Amino acid sequence: MSGESPAPHTLLPTSIVGSLPKPSWLAQPEVLWSPWKLHGDALVEGKQDALRIAVEEQSRRGIDIVGDGEQTRQHFVTTFVEHLSGVDFEQRKTVRIRDRYDASVPTVIGSVSREQPVFVDDAKFLRASTDRPIKWALPGPMTMVDTLYDAHYRSREKLAWEFATILNEEAKELEAAGVDIIQFDEPSFNVFFDEVHDWGVAALERAAEGLRAETAVHICYGYGIKANTDWKATLGSQWRQYEESFPLLQQSSIDIVSLECHHSHVPMDLIELVRGKKVMLGAIDVASETIETPEEVADTLRKALRFVDADKLVPSTNCGMAPFPRDVALGKLSALSAGTKIIREELAVAEP
Ligand SMILES: [Zn+2]
Repeated sequence: MSGESPAPHTLLPTSIVGSLPKPSWLAQPEVLWSPWKLHGDALVEGKQDALRIAVEEQSRRGIDIVGDGEQTRQHFVTTFVEHLSGVDFEQRKTVRIRDRYDASVPTVIGSVSREQPVFVDDAKFLRASTDRPIKWALPGPMTMVDTLYDAHYRSREKLAWEFATILNEEAKELEAAGVDIIQFDEPSFNVFFDEVHDWGVAALERAAEGLRAETAVHICYGYGIKANTDWKATLGSQWRQYEESFPLLQQSSIDIVSLECHHSHVPMDLIELVRGKKVMLGAIDVASETIETPEEVADTLRKALRFVDADKLVPSTNCGMAPFPRDVALGKLSALSAGTKIIREELAVAEP
Protein backbone atom coordinates (compact mmCIF):
# COMPACT_ATOMS: atom_id res chain seq x y z
CA MET A 1 0.00 0.00 0.00
CA SER A 2 1.62 3.25 -1.05
CA GLY A 3 2.57 5.60 1.74
CA GLU A 4 2.49 2.90 4.42
CA SER A 5 5.66 2.88 6.48
CA PRO A 6 7.30 -0.26 7.83
CA ALA A 7 6.59 -1.16 11.44
CA PRO A 8 8.82 0.94 13.70
CA HIS A 9 9.44 -1.80 16.27
CA THR A 10 11.93 -4.54 15.76
CA LEU A 11 11.78 -5.89 19.30
CA LEU A 12 8.91 -8.35 19.89
CA PRO A 13 7.45 -8.16 16.37
CA THR A 14 3.83 -9.34 16.53
CA SER A 15 2.34 -11.83 14.08
CA ILE A 16 -0.71 -14.04 13.62
CA VAL A 17 -0.42 -17.79 13.06
CA GLY A 18 -2.65 -17.94 10.01
CA SER A 19 -6.32 -17.47 9.33
CA LEU A 20 -8.63 -14.54 9.98
CA PRO A 21 -12.42 -14.55 9.46
CA LYS A 22 -13.45 -14.01 5.85
CA PRO A 23 -15.88 -11.23 4.89
CA SER A 24 -19.50 -12.42 4.79
CA TRP A 25 -19.77 -11.67 1.07
CA LEU A 26 -16.91 -14.10 0.34
CA ALA A 27 -17.78 -17.09 2.56
CA GLN A 28 -20.19 -17.99 5.36
CA PRO A 29 -18.77 -16.46 8.57
CA GLU A 30 -17.99 -18.43 11.74
CA VAL A 31 -17.72 -21.69 9.82
CA LEU A 32 -14.47 -23.53 9.18
CA TRP A 33 -13.77 -24.45 5.55
CA SER A 34 -17.01 -22.85 4.34
CA PRO A 35 -17.52 -22.83 0.56
CA TRP A 36 -16.99 -19.70 -1.56
CA LYS A 37 -19.99 -17.51 -2.30
CA LEU A 38 -18.46 -16.15 -5.52
CA HIS A 39 -17.33 -17.86 -8.72
CA GLY A 40 -14.94 -17.29 -11.63
CA ASP A 41 -13.47 -13.81 -12.03
CA ALA A 42 -15.66 -12.44 -9.24
CA LEU A 43 -14.09 -14.98 -6.86
CA VAL A 44 -10.54 -13.97 -7.86
CA GLU A 45 -11.42 -10.32 -7.31
CA GLY A 46 -13.27 -11.07 -4.06
CA LYS A 47 -10.32 -13.01 -2.62
CA GLN A 48 -7.98 -10.13 -3.44
CA ASP A 49 -10.31 -7.61 -1.84
CA ALA A 50 -10.51 -9.80 1.28
CA LEU A 51 -6.72 -10.08 1.36
CA ARG A 52 -6.43 -6.28 1.13
CA ILE A 53 -8.79 -5.92 4.10
CA ALA A 54 -6.84 -8.51 6.12
CA VAL A 55 -3.61 -6.59 5.48
CA GLU A 56 -5.24 -3.28 6.35
CA GLU A 57 -6.69 -4.59 9.62
CA GLN A 58 -3.38 -6.15 10.69
CA SER A 59 -1.48 -2.93 9.96
CA ARG A 60 -4.05 -0.70 11.62
CA ARG A 61 -4.03 -2.89 14.74
CA GLY A 62 -0.25 -2.97 15.04
CA ILE A 63 0.64 -6.41 13.69
CA ASP A 64 4.26 -6.16 12.53
CA ILE A 65 4.69 -9.33 10.45
CA VAL A 66 1.74 -9.41 8.09
CA GLY A 67 0.06 -12.56 6.78
CA ASP A 68 -2.68 -13.17 4.22
CA GLY A 69 -5.19 -14.26 6.88
CA GLU A 70 -5.70 -17.30 4.60
CA GLN A 71 -8.25 -15.25 2.66
CA THR A 72 -7.50 -17.02 -0.61
CA ARG A 73 -7.81 -20.58 0.66
CA GLN A 74 -10.61 -22.70 2.01
CA HIS A 75 -8.57 -25.22 3.99
CA PHE A 76 -4.96 -25.05 5.13
CA VAL A 77 -4.10 -28.45 3.66
CA THR A 78 -6.73 -29.28 1.03
CA THR A 79 -6.38 -26.07 -0.96
CA PHE A 80 -2.70 -26.87 -1.51
CA VAL A 81 -3.36 -30.53 -2.33
CA GLU A 82 -6.08 -29.57 -4.85
CA HIS A 83 -3.36 -28.10 -7.05
CA LEU A 84 -1.28 -31.28 -7.17
CA SER A 85 -1.52 -34.11 -9.68
CA GLY A 86 -1.72 -37.69 -8.42
CA VAL A 87 -4.57 -36.96 -6.01
CA ASP A 88 -8.15 -37.86 -6.96
CA PHE A 89 -10.77 -35.70 -5.23
CA GLU A 90 -13.62 -37.87 -6.59
CA GLN A 91 -12.35 -41.06 -4.92
CA ARG A 92 -12.94 -40.37 -1.26
CA LYS A 93 -12.19 -42.48 1.80
CA THR A 94 -13.02 -41.91 5.42
CA VAL A 95 -9.88 -41.74 7.56
CA ARG A 96 -9.13 -40.73 11.11
CA ILE A 97 -7.46 -37.31 11.12
CA ARG A 98 -4.72 -36.82 13.71
CA ASP A 99 -6.09 -39.86 15.50
CA ARG A 100 -9.02 -37.68 16.60
CA TYR A 101 -11.90 -37.34 14.17
CA ASP A 102 -13.14 -39.04 10.98
CA ALA A 103 -13.21 -37.14 7.72
CA SER A 104 -13.85 -37.92 4.08
CA VAL A 105 -10.59 -37.26 2.25
CA PRO A 106 -9.23 -37.52 -1.31
CA THR A 107 -7.13 -40.48 -2.47
CA VAL A 108 -3.52 -40.52 -3.67
CA ILE A 109 -3.75 -42.61 -6.87
CA GLY A 110 -0.37 -41.95 -8.52
CA SER A 111 2.92 -40.06 -8.26
CA VAL A 112 2.27 -36.67 -6.71
CA SER A 113 3.67 -33.56 -8.35
CA ARG A 114 3.13 -29.83 -8.56
CA GLU A 115 2.35 -28.84 -12.14
CA GLN A 116 2.34 -25.10 -11.38
CA PRO A 117 2.78 -22.70 -8.48
CA VAL A 118 -0.08 -22.80 -5.97
CA PHE A 119 0.07 -19.64 -3.84
CA VAL A 120 2.76 -17.60 -5.61
CA ASP A 121 0.39 -15.11 -7.29
CA ASP A 122 -1.43 -14.57 -3.99
CA ALA A 123 1.89 -14.03 -2.23
CA LYS A 124 2.91 -11.47 -4.88
CA PHE A 125 -0.38 -9.68 -4.24
CA LEU A 126 0.33 -9.67 -0.49
CA ARG A 127 3.86 -8.42 -1.14
CA ALA A 128 2.51 -5.51 -3.19
CA SER A 129 -0.03 -4.68 -0.46
CA THR A 130 2.34 -3.87 2.39
CA ASP A 131 5.88 -2.68 3.14
CA ARG A 132 5.99 -4.73 6.33
CA PRO A 133 7.68 -8.15 6.53
CA ILE A 134 5.30 -10.86 5.26
CA LYS A 135 4.81 -14.47 6.32
CA TRP A 136 3.21 -17.24 4.27
CA ALA A 137 1.96 -20.56 5.66
CA LEU A 138 2.11 -23.93 3.92
CA PRO A 139 0.98 -27.29 5.31
CA GLY A 140 3.81 -29.45 6.64
CA PRO A 141 4.58 -32.82 4.97
CA MET A 142 3.35 -35.00 7.86
CA THR A 143 0.10 -33.09 8.24
CA MET A 144 -0.50 -33.39 4.47
CA VAL A 145 -0.02 -37.16 4.63
CA ASP A 146 -2.45 -37.36 7.54
CA THR A 147 -5.18 -35.58 5.56
CA LEU A 148 -5.27 -38.05 2.64
CA TYR A 149 -5.88 -41.69 1.86
CA ASP A 150 -2.79 -43.15 0.18
CA ALA A 151 -3.53 -45.92 -2.34
CA HIS A 152 -0.27 -45.47 -4.25
CA TYR A 153 2.86 -45.16 -2.11
CA ARG A 154 1.42 -47.22 0.76
CA SER A 155 3.98 -45.54 3.01
CA ARG A 156 3.41 -42.38 5.04
CA GLU A 157 7.15 -41.73 5.06
CA LYS A 158 7.56 -42.04 1.26
CA LEU A 159 4.54 -39.82 0.61
CA ALA A 160 5.82 -37.24 3.13
CA TRP A 161 9.15 -37.18 1.35
CA GLU A 162 7.42 -36.52 -2.00
CA PHE A 163 5.38 -33.72 -0.44
CA ALA A 164 8.51 -32.23 1.13
CA THR A 165 10.10 -31.97 -2.32
CA ILE A 166 6.96 -30.31 -3.71
CA LEU A 167 6.71 -27.92 -0.74
CA ASN A 168 10.34 -26.96 -1.22
CA GLU A 169 9.66 -25.98 -4.86
CA GLU A 170 6.70 -23.87 -3.77
CA ALA A 171 8.62 -22.32 -0.85
CA LYS A 172 11.49 -21.27 -3.12
CA GLU A 173 9.04 -19.49 -5.43
CA LEU A 174 7.32 -17.83 -2.48
CA GLU A 175 10.73 -16.61 -1.34
CA ALA A 176 11.40 -15.22 -4.83
CA ALA A 177 8.02 -13.45 -4.65
CA GLY A 178 9.31 -11.57 -1.60
CA VAL A 179 8.01 -13.64 1.33
CA ASP A 180 10.20 -13.04 4.40
CA ILE A 181 9.04 -15.96 6.57
CA ILE A 182 7.78 -19.31 5.31
CA GLN A 183 5.82 -21.25 7.90
CA PHE A 184 4.96 -24.93 7.80
CA ASP A 185 1.89 -26.00 9.78
CA GLU A 186 2.55 -29.33 11.52
CA PRO A 187 -0.18 -29.96 14.13
CA SER A 188 0.54 -33.67 13.53
CA PHE A 189 3.80 -33.22 15.44
CA ASN A 190 1.71 -33.18 18.63
CA VAL A 191 0.24 -36.60 17.85
CA PHE A 192 2.54 -39.00 15.98
CA PHE A 193 5.67 -38.97 18.11
CA ASP A 194 7.39 -42.03 16.60
CA GLU A 195 7.02 -40.58 13.12
CA VAL A 196 8.25 -37.17 14.29
CA HIS A 197 11.46 -38.88 15.46
CA ASP A 198 11.81 -41.28 12.53
CA TRP A 199 11.16 -38.96 9.58
CA GLY A 200 8.88 -36.02 10.48
CA VAL A 201 11.54 -33.45 11.33
CA ALA A 202 13.77 -34.67 8.48
CA ALA A 203 10.91 -34.23 5.98
CA LEU A 204 10.21 -30.76 7.38
CA GLU A 205 13.87 -29.80 6.93
CA ARG A 206 13.73 -31.12 3.36
CA ALA A 207 10.72 -28.83 2.71
CA ALA A 208 12.74 -25.88 4.07
CA GLU A 209 16.05 -26.83 2.41
CA GLY A 210 18.12 -24.06 0.80
CA LEU A 211 15.79 -21.21 1.71
CA ARG A 212 17.22 -17.79 2.54
CA ALA A 213 13.86 -16.70 3.92
CA GLU A 214 13.32 -17.45 7.60
CA THR A 215 11.49 -20.70 8.23
CA ALA A 216 8.92 -21.46 10.90
CA VAL A 217 7.05 -24.52 12.10
CA HIS A 218 3.64 -24.11 13.74
CA ILE A 219 2.61 -26.89 16.12
CA CYS A 220 -0.66 -26.48 17.99
CA TYR A 221 -3.60 -28.22 19.59
CA GLY A 222 -5.94 -27.07 16.83
CA TYR A 223 -8.81 -24.70 16.23
CA GLY A 224 -11.39 -24.34 18.98
CA ILE A 225 -13.72 -26.91 17.40
CA LYS A 226 -15.44 -29.68 19.39
CA ALA A 227 -13.21 -32.56 18.20
CA ASN A 228 -10.20 -30.63 19.42
CA THR A 229 -11.62 -29.44 22.72
CA ASP A 230 -12.80 -33.01 23.47
CA TRP A 231 -9.29 -34.28 22.72
CA LYS A 232 -7.68 -31.59 24.88
CA ALA A 233 -9.90 -32.70 27.77
CA THR A 234 -8.18 -36.13 27.64
CA LEU A 235 -4.64 -34.74 27.82
CA GLY A 236 -4.53 -34.20 31.55
CA SER A 237 -3.37 -31.23 33.58
CA GLN A 238 0.01 -30.88 31.89
CA TRP A 239 0.33 -30.93 28.11
CA ARG A 240 3.85 -32.23 27.51
CA GLN A 241 3.51 -33.14 23.79
CA TYR A 242 6.06 -30.49 22.79
CA GLU A 243 8.65 -32.41 24.79
CA GLU A 244 8.78 -34.92 21.90
CA SER A 245 9.39 -32.53 19.00
CA PHE A 246 11.18 -29.56 20.57
CA PRO A 247 14.58 -31.20 21.25
CA LEU A 248 14.67 -32.33 17.60
CA LEU A 249 13.60 -28.90 16.33
CA GLN A 250 16.23 -27.23 18.52
CA GLN A 251 18.82 -29.24 16.58
CA SER A 252 17.15 -28.62 13.21
CA SER A 253 17.62 -26.01 10.49
CA ILE A 254 14.20 -24.44 11.21
CA ASP A 255 14.50 -20.86 12.52
CA ILE A 256 11.21 -20.25 14.35
CA VAL A 257 8.97 -22.49 16.47
CA SER A 258 5.31 -21.43 16.82
CA LEU A 259 3.56 -22.83 19.87
CA GLU A 260 0.28 -22.65 21.75
CA CYS A 261 0.54 -21.11 25.21
CA HIS A 262 -2.16 -18.79 26.62
CA HIS A 263 -4.98 -20.72 28.38
CA SER A 264 -3.35 -24.03 27.46
CA HIS A 265 -1.93 -26.59 29.87
CA VAL A 266 1.48 -26.42 28.20
CA PRO A 267 4.11 -25.97 30.95
CA MET A 268 5.96 -22.73 30.17
CA ASP A 269 9.38 -24.26 30.85
CA LEU A 270 9.09 -26.51 27.77
CA ILE A 271 10.02 -23.39 25.76
CA GLU A 272 13.52 -23.85 27.16
CA LEU A 273 13.81 -26.95 24.93
CA VAL A 274 14.07 -24.76 21.82
CA ARG A 275 16.51 -22.25 23.37
CA GLY A 276 18.36 -20.48 20.55
CA LYS A 277 15.43 -20.59 18.16
CA LYS A 278 12.96 -17.76 17.70
CA VAL A 279 9.67 -18.51 19.45
CA MET A 280 6.30 -17.46 18.06
CA LEU A 281 4.41 -17.54 21.31
CA GLY A 282 0.65 -17.98 21.39
CA ALA A 283 -0.60 -15.25 23.72
CA ILE A 284 -4.13 -15.23 22.29
CA ASP A 285 -6.61 -18.08 22.90
CA VAL A 286 -8.42 -19.16 19.73
CA ALA A 287 -10.89 -21.41 21.58
CA SER A 288 -12.61 -18.60 23.51
CA GLU A 289 -14.43 -15.57 22.17
CA THR A 290 -13.46 -13.55 25.23
CA ILE A 291 -10.99 -10.94 24.11
CA GLU A 292 -7.83 -10.92 26.20
CA THR A 293 -6.93 -7.76 28.07
CA PRO A 294 -3.57 -6.18 27.20
CA GLU A 295 -2.40 -7.05 30.74
CA GLU A 296 -3.28 -10.74 30.22
CA VAL A 297 -1.22 -10.77 27.01
CA ALA A 298 1.63 -8.97 28.78
CA ASP A 299 1.50 -11.48 31.63
CA THR A 300 1.88 -14.42 29.22
CA LEU A 301 4.79 -12.74 27.44
CA ARG A 302 6.46 -11.80 30.72
CA LYS A 303 6.36 -15.40 31.91
CA ALA A 304 7.67 -16.68 28.58
CA LEU A 305 10.65 -14.31 28.73
CA ARG A 306 12.09 -16.50 31.47
CA PHE A 307 12.65 -19.16 28.81
CA VAL A 308 13.26 -17.22 25.58
CA ASP A 309 15.52 -14.23 24.92
CA ALA A 310 13.66 -10.99 24.19
CA ASP A 311 15.27 -10.64 20.77
CA LYS A 312 13.86 -14.06 19.84
CA LEU A 313 10.27 -13.63 21.00
CA VAL A 314 7.49 -13.12 18.45
CA PRO A 315 4.15 -12.51 20.21
CA SER A 316 1.42 -14.34 18.33
CA THR A 317 -1.89 -16.21 18.47
CA ASN A 318 -2.32 -19.86 19.51
CA CYS A 319 -3.63 -20.84 16.07
CA GLY A 320 -5.86 -19.45 13.31
CA MET A 321 -8.89 -17.28 14.02
CA ALA A 322 -11.13 -18.18 11.05
CA PRO A 323 -14.06 -19.49 13.14
CA PHE A 324 -14.46 -16.25 15.18
CA PRO A 325 -16.92 -13.43 14.56
CA ARG A 326 -14.91 -10.72 12.84
CA ASP A 327 -15.06 -8.19 15.70
CA VAL A 328 -13.69 -10.81 18.12
CA ALA A 329 -10.73 -11.66 15.87
CA LEU A 330 -9.93 -8.01 15.26
CA GLY A 331 -10.27 -7.20 18.96
CA LYS A 332 -7.78 -9.96 19.70
CA LEU A 333 -5.31 -8.43 17.21
CA SER A 334 -5.52 -5.13 19.08
CA ALA A 335 -5.06 -6.90 22.43
CA LEU A 336 -1.97 -8.69 21.12
CA SER A 337 -0.41 -5.38 20.07
CA ALA A 338 -1.38 -3.55 23.24
CA GLY A 339 -0.04 -6.33 25.48
CA THR A 340 3.20 -6.45 23.50
CA LYS A 341 3.57 -2.68 23.87
CA ILE A 342 3.47 -3.05 27.67
CA ILE A 343 6.39 -5.50 27.58
CA ARG A 344 8.37 -3.40 25.10
CA GLU A 345 8.10 -0.49 27.51
CA GLU A 346 9.14 -2.66 30.46
CA LEU A 347 12.17 -3.89 28.54
CA ALA A 348 13.09 -0.33 27.53
CA VAL A 349 13.08 0.71 31.20
CA ALA A 350 15.13 -2.33 32.20
CA GLU A 351 17.74 -1.74 29.49
CA PRO A 352 17.67 1.89 28.39
ZN1 LIG B 1 -2.72 -24.22 14.63
